Amino acid sequence: MNRREFIGTLAVSTPAAAAAADEQRPTGPSATSEPRPLTITLLGTGTPAPSMERQSSGYLIEIGTDLIVWDHGPGAHHRLIESGHRTVDVTHAFFTHLHYDHCMDYGRLVLQRWDQGADRIPDLQVYGPPPLARMTEQLFGPDGVYGPDIRARVEHRSSLDVFEARGGKSPRKRPAPRVTEIHAGSIVQGNGWKVTVGHAQHVQPYLECLALRLDAKEGSICYTGDSGPSDTIVELAKGCDILIHMNHYFSGTEPTPAYRAACGNHRDNAIIAKRAGVKTLVLTHLLAQIDQPGIREQIVHEIQQVFDGKVVWGEDLMRLGLSGSRVSTIEPGQRD
Ligand SMILES: [Zn+2]
Repeated sequence: MNRREFIGTLAVSTPAAAAAADEQRPTGPSATSEPRPLTITLLGTGTPAPSMERQSSGYLIEIGTDLIVWDHGPGAHHRLIESGHRTVDVTHAFFTHLHYDHCMDYGRLVLQRWDQGADRIPDLQVYGPPPLARMTEQLFGPDGVYGPDIRARVEHRSSLDVFEARGGKSPRKRPAPRVTEIHAGSIVQGNGWKVTVGHAQHVQPYLECLALRLDAKEGSICYTGDSGPSDTIVELAKGCDILIHMNHYFSGTEPTPAYRAACGNHRDNAIIAKRAGVKTLVLTHLLAQIDQPGIREQIVHEIQQVFDGKVVWGEDLMRLGLSGSRVSTIEPGQRD
């Protein structure tokens, strides 16, 4: 058996290579390169608190041939795979702020995508507030946290054999996410979509905190990131089809005014949604204390006393489809 045949065998006989083969096998909604309708999947609707039901913050937008992640907290990447998508198909990642529950799976996204992609896919395009560029360098640069791992995969013969079996051609490139730091007022233009960046009211001045709005011909989606009630959110979300708003706790139970200013609650969110004139309000970033029978219904009921649009209690893997500027489908987040 020559070397090429041996590596070909390796590609289907080792667990790592079998996983690589699985990764490349077309599955789920990403299996074709056909343009897709605008959909958003809630990957993580939880908080920093550990939970099996709710992973930390993450959202996945399918638009045209792009697959865009908004925030990628711990567990969000697992949900992305559960949703039937492939790591290698993610084209863009946006971060609203660098609290760990919004960005801890950044490393997993970049490294798995790079490893499985075997230099055959474009570098990930990444957007977020400073110090995102420094964080990226400190994670993936030569002297970064993953520097020794990356060097081993780029230089050790065994890793290169797997890389070449996946279709890569040596010399192997290092992961090189294309980072653009953004601020309130920034606009990112994509293929058939536009993201407008707004100000979120959260934990300034320690972290720059942003909100995002995507507009496309199919409709518009606004995501507050983490934010308390803010005129800037009303302005950014004006008239949008879906507003995904942090709904951290039950109104009135906040320990201090500073907490209320930094974290969304349901009665303030009802007013924000009404003032912004959005059509659908999706509640997310939900603490376990409010994620309970009776309390859920009370929160939705109280919001509906103020806001006459649709109110959705977010859950991991829930998928909302938009066409003709209306929510055309809501698939519940059922998992095996
Ligand atoms: Zn936060």
